[in-house]
Amino acid sequence: MTLEHTLSIIKPGAVRRNIIGQIISRFESSGLRIAAARMVRLSQEQAEQFYAVHRERPFYSELVAYMTEGPILVMVLEGEDAIARNRAIMGSTDPQKATPGTIRFDLGKNTTRNTVHGSDAPETAEAEIAFFFKPDDICPRHE
Ligand code: UDP
Ligand code: MG
Repeated sequence: MTLEHTLSIIKPGAVRRNIIGQIISRFESSGLRIAAARMVRLSQEQAEQFYAVHRERPFYSELVAYMTEGPILVMVLEGEDAIARNRAIMGSTDPQKATPGTIRFDLGKNTTRNTVHGSDAPETAEAEIAFFFKPDDICPRHE
């Protein structure tokens, strides 16, 4: 096992629905720790850049519109195997295909409005954390 950091985003719909606490509680009760956090209102350009890997996909403009419709909470989660564990806690992209008990199954509305983002690999975690946080913003939580 490896101590990892991963980027988590609580997306605009979940912030608007006032369920930040429920979502964070799931991370904490699974043993992940919050090493950094802040509210952000993404500009169109920032959302386009963050999701640039999906630029050619048919859902790109809908995704960018969603991610800019209101504030988001960006967090660095820390823990053993945090990247894969966060993905497991989140569940599949499409809430209808996600496992019961995951965040997306329990709280997601549809494939676009699926409440949370999580980095999918060590390289993307590093790049996505650097997109939002300076090294000094991150407070390691392990002893
Ligand atoms: N998305 C969408 N339609 C799709 C696939 C993805 O709107 O058919 C959105 C959804 O919000 C998803 C994000 O684009 O979380 C990024 O897609 P990805 O395939 O990377 O899914 P994730 O890694 O978030 O599970
Ligand atoms: Mg992804």
